[in-house]
Amino acid sequence: MIKKIDHLGIAVTDLQEAIETYKKIGLEFVGTEVVDEQKVETAFFKVGESYFELLAATDPSSPIAKFIEKNGGKMHHIALAVDDVQQEIERLSGEGFQMIDKSPRVGAHNNLIAFMHPKATKGVLLEVCSKKAG
Ligand code: ZN
Repeated sequence: MIKKIDHLGIAVTDLQEAIETYKKIGLEFVGTEVVDEQKVETAFFKVGESYFELLAATDPSSPIAKFIEKNGGKMHHIALAVDDVQQEIERLSGEGFQMIDKSPRVGAHNNLIAFMHPKATKGVLLEVCSKKAG
């Protein structure tokens, strides 16, 4: 089941500068976290029940570095909170959607995540995520 918008992911070139910008806008800063698997450092801001997730590459081979090279710093993805990522991968695949991730991987914020292919979702990169057990 899809429960809510969990977070909006925004690719940035300079994380510290972006953090200051979003603090100035008035969002509640939660903290930063490095996700080694995806070679990114993230910063989370709470907005009601949802979050803004700023993403900066920690290595030139990071998917975020490649995205910024192509598109510049901008909106990157929308994440939907679900009960069970594995179940959603199976359900969405069964509906004919192309998934980038065929099995859940570890994201920031103790989440399991999977991305859908933007070709299948009208040009929007959608992530499904759920809290990792334990
Ligand atoms: Zn995300």
